[in-house]
Amino acid sequence: MTEGTPNTLAIASSFKTLVQGLFQISNQVDHNLAIFRQDAAIIRDYYEPRAEFERWRDSADGKAWKKRQHQRQDRCCAICQGSIPCRGSHIDHIKSISQYPELNLDTNNMQVTCPICNTSKGNQC
Ligand SMILES: [Zn+2]
Repeated sequence: MTEGTPNTLAIASSFKTLVQGLFQISNQVDHNLAIFRQDAAIIRDYYEPRAEFERWRDSADGKAWKKRQHQRQDRCCAICQGSIPCRGSHIDHIKSISQYPELNLDTNNMQVTCPICNTSKGNQC
């Protein structure tokens, strides 16, 4: 053994410990990042404009608005003017959610239509 060998072994051992520590930290970062990505996806889906609208549409507020709007429109489809029952009618976005996601909950951008007119616009509501 040379004079430097014990010191070299000590340095190698420290280096090995350091590298193992870095691998552990890297694995923890990967794990936490995966959890963060899952949470971000849940938040993104929750606030996705159509999902947000559908929650409102199915809420007591949304149902009450639709009923009032149906009456304001004299119980007629806003597009074809045909007489329609409230049940089964659709809430149509005048400016589509896909092009105007910020208007997803703006009732000034909504009208009640028959399913045929709404579906033919390509925006199911
Ligand atoms: Zn219609």
